[in-house]
Order: sequence, then structure tokens, then C-alpha cells
Amino acid sequence: EDPLDPHAHLDDSAAEGALRPPSLAEFRGQPRVSEQLGLVLDAARARGQVPDHVLLSGPPGLGKTTLAMIIAHELGQPLRISSGPAIQHAGDLAAILSGLTEGEVFFLDEIHRMSRPAEEMLYLAMEDFRVDVIVGKGPGATEIPLEIPRFTLVGATTRAGLLPGPLRDRFGFTGQLDYYEAGALVGIVARSATLLQVELDTPSAEVIASRSRGTPRIANRLLRRVRDYALVKASGRITPGVAAAALELYEVDELGLDRLDRAVLDAICVRFGGGPVGLSTLAMSVGEETETVEEVAEPYLIRQGFLMRTPRGRVATRRAWNHLGLAVPATHTD
Ligand code: ADP
Repeated sequence: EDPLDPHAHLDDSAAEGALRPPSLAEFRGQPRVSEQLGLVLDAARARGQVPDHVLLSGPPGLGKTTLAMIIAHELGQPLRISSGPAIQHAGDLAAILSGLTEGEVFFLDEIHRMSRPAEEMLYLAMEDFRVDVIVGKGPGATEIPLEIPRFTLVGATTRAGLLPGPLRDRFGFTGQLDYYEAGALVGIVARSATLLQVELDTPSAEVIASRSRGTPRIANRLLRRVRDYALVKASGRITPGVAAAALELYEVDELGLDRLDRAVLDAICVRFGGGPVGLSTLAMSVGEETETVEEVAEPYLIRQGFLMRTPRGRVATRRAWNHLGLAVPATHTD
């Protein structure tokens, strides 16, 4: 297990599930999205209607799945979970949709990775609560319209920009999740520590929070690693020093950058002389998929001012060289 890979959440999903806040009231950070979403749900409840479809976008580990579960919980409805890559054929989607119950919440993760025919079926289902099922093969095939129950689709994507316009337009509400403020992460780590029955003082929680890349999933995971480290090396007692030493071991630096983040910066600064370098060249040189570099590493590096996206490619900033402990080239300007 790579403790820092925000994608790797299947391996410890049980541990993760136990830490999910069950209600909007317990969902910390993201005050805007929480408030807006709360309003959508309250209004639907007041009208006694099924709420509009909801699109959640943002980097992995920020709470999209958690919010989908909260939506179902707040509405008192069951939740059905699937993902874009799992839906290969339109028929797969038709089977799910026709099996929903009235008012059910359908969470579709990685919605931007659905096949085209499934996507088209989804448009119709979202708008008219109908699917056209194809019966038969070849010239004799016919489309039979099938009514489906009214449901709420909660779509999740790492970037809303990846969705075709017609699909995006069919969501009544879009919530954009952003990296968490340190204060919110301290609260999340403290809550998780209580649930895990780990004793954690605020200064130690702050060490973990400040190195979590603004991401609750990483914060929770680092907390478990710090707990392990303390158990083995410090008779179970967590102090800020113990927390920092544990995170050192897992190669998270004091700004929360992990191995991939640093590899990306190192490649741009050293191998490509500060850039500009194209995304696919960059991804190849760090041995990662372009999608991972673009959707996991880059947003945080840009946010922290280490990297810029320009029309000619990725460019490192002065701060990147400084962080790597390298001299900024004399030719560099920013
Ligand atoms: P995503 O679907 O965006 O990849 P998840 O919803 O699976 O992210 O969240 C990852 C983990 O982070 C969950 O286990 C959850 O416990 C935790 N988490 C996410 N957002 C919050 C939050 N606002 N408050 C507390 N815990 C959170």
C-alpha cells in the first residue's frame, strides 16, 4: 500500500468507511458547497420532491463519495453506487436505472469515463426518467421506451471540464470541492482520532493536517501511519516530534508534498530546465499516467505556486527550485 496515493482507497475502504461523517452537520470544511447543498436538500424535502441531480467535482479524496452518502442519508433514501469505467455498455446502465426505487440516490463516480452510448442514455434518463431499451439485433432491432423511477443522480468527476456540455447542463447543482484549509483538516484529524480511540493533542494534529496535501483521505491515512509509528517507536504516545518523524519516514515533506509531487518538480526543474514541458513528456519521465499527473499531482502544485500551466507546457516557478534546495537558474524569471 502506498499511504499517499489518494487513488488507492479500495485497500483500506473499511477503515475509511468508519471515518466518513454521516451528516452534513459533521462534514467539515467546504462551507460553500455544504451550505448550497443543504439548501437543495431542504427545499426538496419541503416540497416533498426528489431533488435535482448533483454534480461534484474536485481532486480525489476530498469527499465526493462521502457527500453522496450524506445526500442519501439526509433524504432517508437508499444509495446505489457505480462508476463510469464499470459501465461498458448502455445495457449495463439500463439495468441499473430500471432497478432503482422511487427517490433513490444513484452515485456515479468518474462519470467522465463512461462510454458514449451510456452517456446518451443517461441524458434521457436524467431529463425524462426514461430509457430506450434496444430489443433484438440487426435490422429487426427495435427501441422500446421504458419508464424509470424518479431518482437523484450524484455524479462525481475529478474535473467538471472533462464532461460534455449536454451532460453538465443536466445537473441542477454543481459543487466544486477544493483543497481543505489547515484548520478544517485539524478538525477532521481530531474527529478521526476520537473515532479510532487514538490520543492526539492539537499540536500533533496540526503536524498531520499541515502535511496532508489539503486532502482528508490523506489526513486520515497519515493519522493511522503516525499511530502505528508511535506504537512501535514511542510506546504509543504521539507528540508533534513523533508525528513529524513518522511522516518523514513516509516521505511526506513539511509542505505535504509526496514522492510524486517532488518527482514532477524535479523533472521540470532539472531534466527540462524549468520547462515549458508538455504533459505527456512530463508524465512519461516520472513513470506515471498523464491522468494521474494532471488530476492528482498538478492541481496541488499549482495551488501551492510551484508550477504553472502555460499554452506551451508546464513551467516551474522560483518556489519549486527553492523547495528542492536547488539554485534558481540565472535565466529564470517569475
Ligand atoms: P472522494 O470520493 O472525493 O475521492 P471520499 O468521499 O471517499 O473522497 O473521502 C475520502 C475520505 O476522507 C473518507 O474516508 C472520509 O472519511 C474523509 N473525508 C472526506 N471529506 C471529509 C470531511 N469533510 N470531513 C471529514 N472527513 C472527510
